[in-house]
Amino acid sequence: MASNRDHQADKHQTGVVPKMLLRTDALYQYILETSVYPREPEPMKELREITEKYPLGMMATTADEVQFLNFLLKLMNVKNAMEIGVLTGYSLLATALALPHDGKILAMDIDRESYEVGRPIIEKAGVAHKIDFREGPALPLLDQLLKHEKNHGSFDFIFVDADKNNYLNYHKRLIELVKVGGLIGYDNTLWNGSVVESPDLPMDDYVMSYRGFVLELNKALAVDPRIEICMIPVGDGITLCRRIK
Ligand code: SAM
Ligand code: CA
Repeated sequence: MASNRDHQADKHQTGVVPKMLLRTDALYQYILETSVYPREPEPMKELREITEKYPLGMMATTADEVQFLNFLLKLMNVKNAMEIGVLTGYSLLATALALPHDGKILAMDIDRESYEVGRPIIEKAGVAHKIDFREGPALPLLDQLLKHEKNHGSFDFIFVDADKNNYLNYHKRLIELVKVGGLIGYDNTLWNGSVVESPDLPMDDYVMSYRGFVLELNKALAVDPRIEICMIPVGDGITLCRRIK
């Protein structure tokens, strides 16, 4: 694990104290064991453990990131939320638990089978009534929502965690659906660290195939005057976008 002495040594070499705190796996494990797992609601623990054993489970959001999202949503008093990309419902459950009893979350995924894995736990947690799950590709569902004026500017929080090649297409639509002052969170914007790797280096095919889309999204969000942004290095990176106009 990196020690204060290491930081001092770096300071002498570069003249600045390094800003990246998570230099070791042990430090990440420390966060999980000190502040995440001891406070994890029982249904979140149960769904995390089921998802870890699920064949597609490696796609799920990390426990520290969902803790952060749950915390953020409570701070914002979110009542009307949306999630694109549900899988077993792990981040969905974290969101549903943060909403008040009469809160709502519209959740979309092309894969109902994975959602069915987590649904019994969501029901046991007493939050299923807040969730409106729609099976199907998100883009046409968003276009349907946009046809009704009442949906414009109606969402307090939208979490996007699905097909990375469509993030910019989602953004075009979501910016109309989120309210001014509301938040869109685009997940995986550091894309496995590949955003700073040379494309000539050997890279996992899956990572490589979406890397260009993530880079394009990050560039576009950085100059979009309709939002303020903040890129948070939690999980695989999440870019929070607050609509300002
Ligand atoms: N948010 C989930 C969590 O934290 O547990 C993980 C979601 S996983 C990274 C991505 C999900 O997006 C998959 O379940 C996949 O079926 C879904 N997906 C892929 N393409 C989609 C599309 N066009 N529309 C809606 N969902 C899609
Ligand atoms: Ca993700």
